[in-house]
Amino acid sequence: MAVPKRRTSTTRKNKRRTHFKLAVPGMVKCDNCGEYKLAHRVCPSCGSYKGEEVVEK
Ligand SMILES: [Zn+2]
Repeated sequence: MAVPKRRTSTTRKNKRRTHFKLAVPGMVKCDNCGEYKLAHRVCPSCGSYKGEEVVEK
């Protein structure tokens, strides 16, 4: 079995992991309350969609 000759340095390891990041799924600000919400979905904090159309409550 192949075994690494040298240990991976912290720098090298960190450089490799620059591509490793959290992807935030389409977050946009709500038009009504300014809270962050998922795009194309009803706002979970105030229940509005596309400006004023209030669904829920
Ligand atoms: Zn809202």
